[in-house]
Amino acid sequence: MAAGRCFFCEALHNPHDDETNFVLHRAAHNFVILNRYPYISGHLMIAPNQHLAELDAAAKEVTDEMMDLAKRCQSALREVYQPNGFNLGMNLGQAAGAGVAEHFHMHLMPRWSGDTNFMSTVGDTRVLPEDLATTFRKLKSKF
Ligand SMILES: [Zn+2]
Repeated sequence: MAAGRCFFCEALHNPHDDETNFVLHRAAHNFVILNRYPYISGHLMIAPNQHLAELDAAAKEVTDEMMDLAKRCQSALREVYQPNGFNLGMNLGQAAGAGVAEHFHMHLMPRWSGDTNFMSTVGDTRVLPEDLATTFRKLKSKF
C-alpha cells in the first residue's frame, strides 16, 4: 500500500481533521490516535510520523519518544478511566495480527477486572460502552 493511502499517514497529513480522525496528540516523531475499532473504550495507538513497517527500522529518538508517549497515555487513561490494568504492545506483520502492517504502531488499552464479559463480540460488531467522540473529548483534555 502506498504511503498516501495508509490510514496512519492519511490522519497524520490532515491536521485540520484531527477531531474527526481522533488524533489526540502530535509530538515531534509520533502521534497518538484513537483506535476506530477498539477492543475496549480508551484503546489508543501511538504511531511514528514516518511510514515504517518495522520497529527495528525506526531511529532511537522515534522509539524513545514512543515509550515516553506510552507513559503519557497511561497517565491520561488512568486519570479518565481509573482502570485496574493496561495492555501495551505491538503486532508486527500481518501474520502477527497487525491491521495496518506497513505502518507499525503501539497499542495501549485500559483493562478492568472481568472486562472480558463486555468485550465479547457478536459477528463483526463489537459491543462498546462509549462512543468514540466521547472518548476523544475526555482524553483530549489530558494532552
Ligand atoms: Zn503510513
